[in-house]
Amino acid sequence: MKPVGPIPAGYQSKDGQIAVAGHTARDLVEQGGATPLFVYSREHLTKRVGDLRATMPDRLKINYAIKANPFAPLLKHMAGLVDGFDIASGGELAMAQAAGLDPRAISFAGPGKRNEELEAALRAGVTLNLESENEARRALAIGERIGAVPRMAIRVNPDFELRGSGMKMGGGAKQFGIDQARVPALAKEIIAAGAEWRGLHIFTGSQALSAEAIIEAQANVIDLADQLASEIGQPLPKLNMGGGLGIPYFHGDEPVDIAAIGAALDKRFSNLPANLADTDLCIELGRYLVGEAGIYLTEIVDRKESHGSTFLVTDGGLHHQLAASGNFGTVVRRNYPSAIATKYDSEPSEEVNIVGCLCTPLDRLADKAHFPRAEVGDLVVIFCAGAYGATASPADFLGQGAAREILV
Ligand SMILES: *Cc1c(COP(=O)(O)O)cnc(C)c1O
Repeated sequence: MKPVGPIPAGYQSKDGQIAVAGHTARDLVEQGGATPLFVYSREHLTKRVGDLRATMPDRLKINYAIKANPFAPLLKHMAGLVDGFDIASGGELAMAQAAGLDPRAISFAGPGKRNEELEAALRAGVTLNLESENEARRALAIGERIGAVPRMAIRVNPDFELRGSGMKMGGGAKQFGIDQARVPALAKEIIAAGAEWRGLHIFTGSQALSAEAIIEAQANVIDLADQLASEIGQPLPKLNMGGGLGIPYFHGDEPVDIAAIGAALDKRFSNLPANLADTDLCIELGRYLVGEAGIYLTEIVDRKESHGSTFLVTDGGLHHQLAASGNFGTVVRRNYPSAIATKYDSEPSEEVNIVGCLCTPLDRLADKAHFPRAEVGDLVVIFCAGAYGATASPADFLGQGAAREILV
């Protein structure tokens, strides 16, 4: 037997099935039209952002990094909850604009921005988080050509990183940001060229569950921002402190202690250096805001035995749930939180392997899990499906196509 990850708070059962916002799994599939289906909960999203705001200093703005989940109805809902969006491509720019957010509350990070993307961003008036000197100069030239004053911040590649983060995005040689030692020179260059200076973006890592590590990284970010502002010779208009708050995916993971992070920020914000006294301060979060608000429902289409093991074969799989299959940045595959959605109240009675319908041994959703007996036609639920699911998985692999998505 292998354990499955912890089921996030906020899910109920109704008529023996898992329910979201009072709708059973079968009702949700009827609403969505078919399986496989992603279901995102408005109520869950609203509560998540509200709880976070209640524990963070009022001064801290909360941005949503839309690459975690750009489903249009979800973005519209998030636009009413958060202070800004972080985007990482021209495609995401179009999605953010369609969601109705003020472009001045949008910032555009990400390496390899093409000239067309830079031009669209400058025309829209979003802030560019510059990833290289070359990108800065291309954007300045485009601004001059189209008669737009570029709003520019610099993404810093700091010399430190967020300890214990699932994905390291700072420290040492990286494709992200500009090495901290070269930041002051570039900042002076773009200010002299007439850009609107929007400050610094310092992203140190992702998917961390240790409050202590996040507190340490945030303290280092503030110190570095102060030092760079001094070298640049102006107070900072804005500091995007990055994000990094993770969610529990696996057995033994504990939720991050946001109260501890909020208390440390409160203390630090009450005693900021002069360079940061009037700075607009924000964090940018993806999975923490939306990950637990989504589930993935897939139907069992076959039940078979092989050498004494039971396989439940579903109509979904890694083409929608690459991360749950263990193929998106994990070294050792472990089970995501999952359950039999239509036997949600029943006692576990057998060990099963839940797999997808793709013709590859990589397509596994739960290994040796202890679940109630399920038959063909029952539904399986995978939790933590609100982030890096639908758009972070190869939907067209094997000609399968996209899953349906609904927001309830
Ligand atoms: C991906 C990304 C995020 C969001 O990461 P999560 O782990 O989903 O919170 C935030 N900022 C930047 C710059 C990113 O690239």
